[in-house]
Amino acid sequence: MNKKRQFVVIGLGRFGGSVCKELIEQGNEVLAMDMDEQKVNDYSRIVTHAVVADSTDEATLRSLGVRNFDFAVVAIGDNLQASILTTLLLKEFEIKNVWVKAKNNYHQKVLEKIGADKVIHPESDMGRRVAQQMSDENVIDFIELSSDYSIVELIAVSKLEGKTLIDLDIRARFGITILAIKNGDDINVSPDPDYRITAGELLIVIGHNKDIKRFEEVDM
Ligand code: ATP
Repeated sequence: MNKKRQFVVIGLGRFGGSVCKELIEQGNEVLAMDMDEQKVNDYSRIVTHAVVADSTDEATLRSLGVRNFDFAVVAIGDNLQASILTTLLLKEFEIKNVWVKAKNNYHQKVLEKIGADKVIHPESDMGRRVAQQMSDENVIDFIELSSDYSIVELIAVSKLEGKTLIDLDIRARFGITILAIKNGDDINVSPDPDYRITAGELLIVIGHNKDIKRFEEVDM
């Protein structure tokens, strides 16, 4: 289990709300803040503390001890001015990790300029993810490590049936590495070179996106 961390989450719309729930689920402490009393009431039983407050008011943030937090999430959507001012105040408080939800590219640019540590576009990020998964039926899940490199969970297709990792010589031929092989609940981390693949197993591979694609498309 990760060490318990303390987060402040500002804005309890759908995005901020689900961030709160998951942070609590993962065993963290969460101070949730919204101007809307109803939203605060909805979350008061879920989070550690929930307060009705305007995050653009510096004195309020000070009195709530927000500067003592190491992590902050700004999940204010429509009111760009409030989102920007809140981020500015949090960075002035020298909070090390301020993650902010952006509405558009202009918003993102300003947030980066004033020191947001990560800018999130939930709708476009999710849209891209769904499209990438839908366009390749063998990809079950993936983690983008950078724009070029990923960890991908691939279904072992029938052309791989019965082949060992030595037969496939994946690292030399494609420059990618099989980190693990999953079969139902069993996971084989760093499989031996003489491991024989069964079609339908899940291969967890790391590498350049182009090389992973090449591996998927090649005739064995
Ligand atoms: P969703 O995540 O549901 O898509 P959204 O992007 O539409 O949300 P909004 O509903 O505009 O975002 O804002 C999210 C929440 O932020 C709202 O509950 C709103 O009351 C709250 N909020 C907006 N401005 C402030 C502020 N200055 N201080 C505290 N909370 C604020």
